[in-house]
Amino acid sequence: MNCVFCQIIEGKLPARLVYRDELVTVFHDRAPITPVHLLVVPNRHLESLNQVQEADRELLGHMILTAQQIAAQMGIQHSGYRLVINTGRDAGQSVFHLHLHLIGGTRMAFPLQPGEFS
Ligand code: AMP
Repeated sequence: MNCVFCQIIEGKLPARLVYRDELVTVFHDRAPITPVHLLVVPNRHLESLNQVQEADRELLGHMILTAQQIAAQMGIQHSGYRLVINTGRDAGQSVFHLHLHLIGGTRMAFPLQPGEFS
């Protein structure tokens, strides 16, 4: 499959891996928007959040708990962090393999301003 994240998960494309288990792989985003910017990616190919089903509850919970643990490992659990899942065109999803952005290490505005992070 011609999916960049599948290729990283299969070890066919290089990435700065941080964590891996039977369900997820975590690596640094290649174009970080914050000092800490990691991607928590399910090992199984799912196009987006829209493809997630009831049977994937455990996977989604695991993605979030993994992000929590990695945030602690990165030393940002107390300063704060944000989890983002872009879904579809209007959200700016550019890689169609479900992933959760873990961003932090700086103050982040909310609500987002138009054009922010793009
Ligand atoms: P999204 O726009 O939510 O689909 O996010 C996709 C993210 O994947 C972007 O932040 C990209 O910088 C990142 N990305 C794309 N290709 C790679 C890659 N080969 N290694 C690491 N991160 C990547």
